Amino acid sequence: MDEIEKLKSENEELKKVNENKSDLISVTAHQLRTSLSALKWTLKMFLDKDLGDINKEQEEYLGKAIESNQRAISLVNYLLTFNHTDNISMAAHINDVNLIILLKKVISIFQGELKNKKIELIFNKPESDIPNINCDEEMIMDVLQNLIENSIKYSNNNSVINTSLKYISSNNVVIISVHDNGIGIDKDDQMKIFNKFFRAPNAIDKESVGSGLGLFTAKSIVEKLGGKIWFESSKESGTTFFVSLPVS
Ligand code: ADP
Repeated sequence: MDEIEKLKSENEELKKVNENKSDLISVTAHQLRTSLSALKWTLKMFLDKDLGDINKEQEEYLGKAIESNQRAISLVNYLLTFNHTDNISMAAHINDVNLIILLKKVISIFQGELKNKKIELIFNKPESDIPNINCDEEMIMDVLQNLIENSIKYSNNNSVINTSLKYISSNNVVIISVHDNGIGIDKDDQMKIFNKFFRAPNAIDKESVGSGLGLFTAKSIVEKLGGKIWFESSKESGTTFFVSLPVS
């Protein structure tokens, strides 16, 4: 066998090993997500007092447990999304996605945390009809979950978060926005917040637990869907994240 043939065959071997590892990660991550979701609903039942009364302290701890659980789910979603990066378009389940229903679904996931922090999350009724988006629902859900989770995490108690949807017919895109009155993003950090593992110092002070993977993941997903993600932020007026997604 000449040198080139030998290299080719070694390369094939390595590809196979890599594929087997990716499959193992996918299977494990899916099982983890199922267990974490089951845990989430159980914790939520306790928090919602479906299983009997609980006191303030128990409510606080349960809220924190749900928050950590949600973060673990986001990490697992990240693993699932990027494990087969080369195959991402093949792995996607493309459907017509109604963003109003999806946004309401995501908001409902955070009811426990919102209640805990006494934050009011307002979903502003769209001014015009919002066309469906043809894409993978799980992917958009992941993005929205991350933006809403951050807006809650980096807001103070008793504040208000506004979410809205807008259809821009001239560009045939839907723009999703999430506005909070929270800690804001320092000018010096604004360039870095989409970088993998980056967490701004004021975010670490406010919430010690975090992965710095959420926005990196969100940006990768949005760009794969042909959209854009950006933000406006100041210490005085908080942060607004925008995501635009093409309708067709
Ligand atoms: P994590 O929230 O786990 O730290 P993310 O990737 O979701 O990671 O966000 C990266 C960083 O961007 C955060 O650590 C924080 O510094 C900043 N950030 C994101 N969303 C907000 C927000 N709504 N308000 C203030 N800072 C934010």
